[in-house]
Amino acid sequence: MCRHLAWIGAARTLAELTMARPHGLLRQSWAPRRMRHGTINADGYGVGWYAPRLRAGPARYRRAVPMWTDASYASMAGVIASGCVLAAVRSASVGMPVEESATAPFTDGTRLLSHNGRVDPAAVRTLLARHPEAPAPDSACDSALLAALVWEHAARQPLADAVARVVTALGDAGLADSRPGALRPWAGDWTTPPPAPAPPAPPGPPAAPAASGSPRSDGADRPSAARLNLVVTDGTQLVATAWGETLVYRIEEDGVLVASEPDDDGAGWIEVPDHYLLVADTRKVTLRSLTSGDGYCG
Ligand code: GLN
Repeated sequence: MCRHLAWIGAARTLAELTMARPHGLLRQSWAPRRMRHGTINADGYGVGWYAPRLRAGPARYRRAVPMWTDASYASMAGVIASGCVLAAVRSASVGMPVEESATAPFTDGTRLLSHNGRVDPAAVRTLLARHPEAPAPDSACDSALLAALVWEHAARQPLADAVARVVTALGDAGLADSRPGALRPWAGDWTTPPPAPAPPAPPGPPAAPAASGSPRSDGADRPSAARLNLVVTDGTQLVATAWGETLVYRIEEDGVLVASEPDDDGAGWIEVPDHYLLVADTRKVTLRSLTSGDGYCG
């Protein structure tokens, strides 16, 4: 996925979260403002949400078409409300299948996962081979393999630990190619947001939606430099990583938004430093370095 968004808090409609925001996922599907790899996100989209009074596991709606072409989604998104939502628009990586089963959010039991980035499928398969009990991946897409690995880890440890272990294990392979400056652990109190909120990005130039899928343009980088921005939720918390792609969050009166990029030009967006883990519930966000060797690595 090339852009994702998650909300935890008071119930909001899918339309409010994904379509109505000035630079929300709908607009990001043709005009993302901070995407480092690729230009548009037209290879599909998906939304997962929870309705805990009806069932423990989430509901999902995924399509392998651009979000802006799906009038049926637009018609239902205004009448589905949830206190925990994970949504994503996709720009398929080079060589990855464009199909609904390769489209986030991926799910297992009560959990949902979205991946913004790229990882060598062979590296994930190598780790999966050590865990024959892992659920079968939905697709040959790197993100689906990654999801299966996270599900396996999450079955035997807290969700944040599972995500941190998978990301650091796969990310280590690409660290030699990463910018050294990005690896310095943040020295502050890990329960406090980083000191300098990022200024909102200037509005991008107007762009018309393209008629068909996006060019496979996010594969120009070196394949060994894994990009591993994940958002994972079990309906009670959001766990997200910044690893090679942009990630921001905003604490609002009634909940917390976590997103690949700000979906408006309002105040309060805070950039998550690269190689950090974010954990959010309805009231609080905590951040922790993934590279300080404090027990999350391995
Ligand atoms: N690699 C993932 C895919 O192909 C995610 C792509 C992305 O973040 N642009 O779906």
